[in-house]
Formats: sequence, C-alpha cells, structure tokens
Amino acid sequence: ETLTVEELAAKLNKEASEIIKKLMFLGVMATKNQDLDDDAVELICDEFGVEVEKEIILEDTDFDKYRDQDDKAELVERPAVVTIMGHVDHGKTTLLDAIRHTKVTEGEAGGITQHIGAYQVENDGRKLTFLDTPGHAAFTSMRSRGAQVTDIAVLVVAADDGVMPQTVEAINHAKAAEVPIIVAVNKMDKEGANPDRVMQELTEYELIPEDWGGNTIFVNMAAFKHEGIDSLLEMLQLVSEMEELKANPKANAFGTVIEAELDKGRGPVATLLVQNGTLHVSDSVVVGSTFGRVRTMVNDEGKRVQSAEPSTPVEITGLNDVPQAGDQFLVFSDEKKSRQVGEARQQKHIQETRSETTKVSVDDLFEQIKQGEMKEINIVIKADVQGSAEALASSLEKIDVEGVKIKIIHTGVGAIKESDIILASASNAIVIGFNVRPDVNAKKAAETEKVDVRPHRIIYKVIEEIEAAMKGMLDPEY
Ligand code: GDP
Repeated sequence: ETLTVEELAAKLNKEASEIIKKLMFLGVMATKNQDLDDDAVELICDEFGVEVEKEIILEDTDFDKYRDQDDKAELVERPAVVTIMGHVDHGKTTLLDAIRHTKVTEGEAGGITQHIGAYQVENDGRKLTFLDTPGHAAFTSMRSRGAQVTDIAVLVVAADDGVMPQTVEAINHAKAAEVPIIVAVNKMDKEGANPDRVMQELTEYELIPEDWGGNTIFVNMAAFKHEGIDSLLEMLQLVSEMEELKANPKANAFGTVIEAELDKGRGPVATLLVQNGTLHVSDSVVVGSTFGRVRTMVNDEGKRVQSAEPSTPVEITGLNDVPQAGDQFLVFSDEKKSRQVGEARQQKHIQETRSETTKVSVDDLFEQIKQGEMKEINIVIKADVQGSAEALASSLEKIDVEGVKIKIIHTGVGAIKESDIILASASNAIVIGFNVRPDVNAKKAAETEKVDVRPHRIIYKVIEEIEAAMKGMLDPEY
C-alpha cells in the first residue's frame, strides 16, 4: 500500500514541505497528495535517519483493503452454507450424518467421507455446503471473531420434546446474525411426536408456518430413518435461491477458517471455507495472524484437489502457524506482499493480546456513548425465574437516554453459561445475572472473551446502574 507525501510527513512528524524538498533533492517532483511507493518511503526515511519499520508502511492489515472489488458482471451463484442448530439430543448429529449419507450412496461405492469440519452434497445437480459442527457454539464463536459464514440455519426440534432452552438460544443466535431459519421437526417416527405443538410453541418466537400465515418453512422428518431428508434439501435449495447468494470465482480467494490443528507429520492443517474467489494450490495466503503458501489441498472426500471455488471447504497445509477457527484468510497475487501483510498481522496480534481491553463494560459505557461509538447497548439477561428475566428486560428497555437504545439480545433462566458469554461476546453485549451467577466455564470464557458480567439481586439496582452508566454518573469504584 502506498502513502501520500502528507501522510508520510505526519508519521515522521515533519512538514510536508520538508518531504517535498527531500524528494526534489532526490530528483522527484511531488505534490503533497502524491502517492509514494515503498522504495520512495524508505529513501526518505533514510534521509531523515529514521529506520523504516514495516509497521509504518503496513499499519493497514485489514483484509478489506486488499480484497478484489467484485465486478458485478463476474458474480455467479454459489452454494448456500448451512449450519444445523437445536437443543441437545434433538438429532443434529444424526441429521448431519443422514445428509452426508445421501452423498455417499449416490457417489462411487464405498466413497469414504473425511471429517474436515464441513462437507458438500449435491442435490438435483446443485450443491449445498454443511458445517459439520452442530450447535451454535461454533457458529457464534466464529461470529464473535467477525466471521459470518452461515447463510441458512436449520433448527432441529424433536417432535416429542418440543422447544427447549437451547432451541431458544439457537433461535436468538440465528436472529442476531440475521440468518434465515428452516425448522426441521425431527423424530416424527416416535410415539408422542406432536408437530403441531412444536409449531404452536415456535409461534412465540416469530417462527410461523406458511399454513398459519407466516413465512417459516417447516419440514417434518425422522433423521434416524433418513426420512424427510430430500424435502429438507429441497427447501434449503429454495431458500438458497431466494437469498440470491453470489460470489466471484475469478477473485483472489477470501474466506474463513472452519477448523485448524497442528498435525504431527504435516504441520499446521486448516479447513478453509472459500467464500469468494477461487483458492489454488501454491497460492500465497494470509490466514488470521499467520501466513504461508498452500502446499496441499484436500476436499471433503479426502481427495487431492488443485482448486476450490466459492462455498467449498478444503483442508490445506503449508501455513507457518495454526490459525484459529473463525479467522479470515485472503490470497495475495504478490508473494512478497502476502508475507508483509502476514508479518504485520502477526505483530499486531501480539500487541493486541498484550493490551486487550474489555469490549463493552458498564464502567466505560458513557465514554463510548460520548464518543458516539455506542448507539445501541446490547444486553444478555439470565435470571432464576422467567418472570424476573422478563420484568428486567422490559424495565431496561424503558430506560430513556437520548440517542441510545437498549437491546435485549437474549433472556434465559438458570446459571450464566459459557454459551451466554460467547453470545454476548459476538454481540458486544453486557451480561446481567439476576439471582444467578456464572458457572466455572462461563467465568473462564468471560475472562478470555473480555465480557462484562454483572450479578444483581434487585431489579431497580440494575436499572439504576445501567442508567447511571449511560449518563456518565456511575460512582467511582474503590
Ligand atoms: P444431537 O445432540 O442434537 O446431535 O442429537 P443426536 O443426533 O446425537 O441424537 C440424539 C438421539 O436421538 C440419538 O440416540 C439418536 O439416535 C436419536 N434420534 C435422532 N434422530 C431421530 C429420529 O428421527 N427418530 C428417533 N426415534 N430417534 C432419533
């Protein structure tokens, strides 16, 4: 990336005219808005006796700066990326296996699928990509790292059990991410299966079937017996068409890390989901805060491939270090640039982990509101009983501070769990515990995710605290 004369002057604490003079001396006529290439920057820094650190030139480590501008004419349809969510034991894993099975039987006999964290199936000649980690933990932890990979959520609800706490959590997660939801009413084979009750219960969460005047798709199934899989795939295809999902296969590949680990023999191994562009073997790629060149690439069937198009998951080797799930990656045409950006991101990552601060805390709410950074305060509420959770939510929503709104992301009953923290982290929210406390895992997660957790016992104290914080009148802590 280039710097203008003026920008460089600011970085060096000099007047632009001084830089221009130096440039003239070097035989270059420049104006203050002129772009300088890396060599010129280095020459000038040299003149001033300043050592160029890469950071000066490369302080911009944001991928957006380097991503290809997609030419509308080059956009083509891409497969939808689907995440399966729902309450524990409602059949998420069984469903994922059943869907994967449709492919194995249709492909060559004995085709063994490999677990790489995501897989694709073909249905009527069109593909769908499934993330292979059921549940919303993976979904949300990715989102908390800024990655949005899911296009459609399948909410699995067991017909004999109905809507359960994690069903509600899953709904809130999908809604927070603005991802369309298809409801899979599972275990229809079971005695006591009552799909009408499931529909009835879900109306409370604005998931209303078409027959009842809503626009949510419901599919009845028995994942276990592979019943209803075809209809589900068909409906997914339908929603995917409505979403008009597109990507540019000609761009430099961009996407997200689904899984990563250190393999004893192969070194860092990462499953990447290509979201735009096409990824090729030997591409120079920056992944999160590491980088490298794609050495080998394997698809979800365990086959070596040379390239991967949009919405395709592939497992690669060739990185210098193990990235984290949810990290984004970008391919650079220029290997040198790739290494520079990779190194700069590595550097930045080290600095950030050193000086990490809480994302939003009640203590600095006012600061952020004042600086115009905060227009909406996101809050997750956990309480001992549903009634208090609701009472607290509606009282909080009534707080009136000009220009700032309170948004309740999630309310639930019971101890504060790790999933609450992850949701709060993804949504930049504060967690309020009313007569409940965080459990051990939640405490740990709150620390690493830097989420502010506030336990309380009296509703008006919560209101007072938040209101005071919003108005900058919080009592100092001693
Ligand atoms: P997960 O926790 O949501 O991933 O649920 P699992 O896929 O592990 O399923 C939980 C249990 O329900 C397992 O014992 C499955 O065999 C069973 N199960 C899943 N789907 C069905 C179904 O369609 N019918 C019946 N009867 N059992 C099912």
